[in-house]
Amino acid sequence: MSTFDAIVVGAGFGGIYNLYKLKELGLSVKCFEKAPEVGGTWYWSQYPGATSDSSSEVYRYSFDKELLKTYPWPTHFLPQKETQAYLKHVVDRYDLGQHIQLNTELKGASFDAATSAWTVSFSNGETYKATYLILACGSFHTPNRPKIPGLDKFAGPVYHTGDWPEKRDLKGKRVGVIGTGSSGAQVLVNIADEVKHLVSFQRSAQHVVPHPNGPVSAEYREWVNNNYDEIWEQVNNHPVGHPLVHKTTPTMSVSAEERERIWEDLWNNGPNGFSFMYGPFGDIHSSAEANREICKYFEKKIAQSITDPDKLKKLTPSEIYGKRPVTLSGYYETFNKEHVDIVNYEHTPFVTVNEKGILTEEKQWDLDVIILATGYEVIDGSYIKLDLQGTHGSLKENWAKEGIPTSYLGVSESGFPNMFFIVGPQSPFTNMPPLIESQGNFITGLIEKAEAKKKENGGKTVLIEAEEKAKREWMEKCRTLAEGSLFRTVKSYIFGNMAPGKDLPGIFWLGGYGYYRSTIKEVSDNGYPGFSFST
Ligand code: NAP
Repeated sequence: MSTFDAIVVGAGFGGIYNLYKLKELGLSVKCFEKAPEVGGTWYWSQYPGATSDSSSEVYRYSFDKELLKTYPWPTHFLPQKETQAYLKHVVDRYDLGQHIQLNTELKGASFDAATSAWTVSFSNGETYKATYLILACGSFHTPNRPKIPGLDKFAGPVYHTGDWPEKRDLKGKRVGVIGTGSSGAQVLVNIADEVKHLVSFQRSAQHVVPHPNGPVSAEYREWVNNNYDEIWEQVNNHPVGHPLVHKTTPTMSVSAEERERIWEDLWNNGPNGFSFMYGPFGDIHSSAEANREICKYFEKKIAQSITDPDKLKKLTPSEIYGKRPVTLSGYYETFNKEHVDIVNYEHTPFVTVNEKGILTEEKQWDLDVIILATGYEVIDGSYIKLDLQGTHGSLKENWAKEGIPTSYLGVSESGFPNMFFIVGPQSPFTNMPPLIESQGNFITGLIEKAEAKKKENGGKTVLIEAEEKAKREWMEKCRTLAEGSLFRTVKSYIFGNMAPGKDLPGIFWLGGYGYYRSTIKEVSDNGYPGFSFST
């Protein structure tokens, strides 16, 4: 059985960066990836219109300025193909391909206390040993396939936006799309003109704001290159890792006219939904009054975009602005097309899927194709399907007993020495690439310290493990930070679709990305309290 210092699982943003970092440390590392290509979620999400809605210059790694300059980004928001091509470029630039094995899916791993090593097994039957196991399996990876009554009876194909690795022919078809998060909205707008009939089945109406996407000019690129450090400084201090100025100004402290002027400027010039949530006002996500005010503004904009009063009624959200913001131009306008319909379960409840399509209380919608845009089993979905055995039993069973996936600092779990998550439970709710780099740097620091101790110990493996007490304190901190968040009052993946009001920490750290960065920096600056280094 081959042995490596470290095994990295997943070759998306997280896996590629950690492979790069650990190679830089001089370790023998192998990265395994389930897909036939690198890219992670940007390989699996090839649905029409799949696009990042974070500014392109920060939807990248920041560690190498030359990388930014040598691989320019064509548009302000990147289509799936561009992001995947960028990741392939990174792999080539740092000659990482030789360390990546594709088409190899992780099945499980178990820690052997006698040898202080992980035995890692893959679905093709291969097994390897490693000292360190880095799980970069993706926090948005396992598609959420809800148990929709009758779905198995549908005669046509059922596709999922998160499992769309190939071209699928929708031309001239009658298509139903279930779900209206970012993926559902993007797919709807982008297939509307090629299909015969399009029906959006929505459980909740969404607040969707436009973004001014378009080609990046040479001047803008030069400005980014010249202000790269300042831009990243802004990202690193922003609550959700965007290059935006986040003010603490209370929404209601300025006049109605001033609010209108500010929001109108954002609506017309962007850059995205996060600028409404975490931009000129500091309380949209925490004050019910402020949130109601922005909802009124959105309702006015939605009303200006839709001509049919019945469609307008269905597309007007009844919930507050408390989900992950959706950003996309032309969303509401798409429903002005005669062959595009909307079914809102609040108005016309869903009954069942049958052989011919979807039956609601109002009518039967005959369909050729159903698209599930129902998102992911966010974060824990990547891990609970694996057989991971630590020193105190299985990860899946431990989390089931807790009633929630748990971690210390979002990167490690007690009872699982030398195993690390990239974007594990209670990681910050943020733009992913900056977080991935922060966590990769933190984990590399831990491993560097363990390797130094190993040398001092005459080559005996050092085990890095989160202490139970530190984990409990961290979880309690996450619970406190989530208190009072308006996100808790709507049903969405941010609280793991948990029942509103349940007093759990949630699956994300809601203290903001900047605060998370300073928290883990303090831990690394102080010699990693909360972690034991034992032999
Ligand atoms: P999502 O945001 O979780 O949205 C899932 C949608 O499915 C919601 O509209 C939800 O309804 C609906 N849904 C879930 N279960 C359902 C059921 N049983 N019946 C009916 N409807 C159901 O998923 P996503 O759109 O795939 O996005 C996942 C994440 O990736 C998000 O953070 C998203 O913003 C991100 N994303 C980012 C980009 C990018 O630009 N970087 C692009 C695409 C996606 P409710 O609203 O009622 O819960």
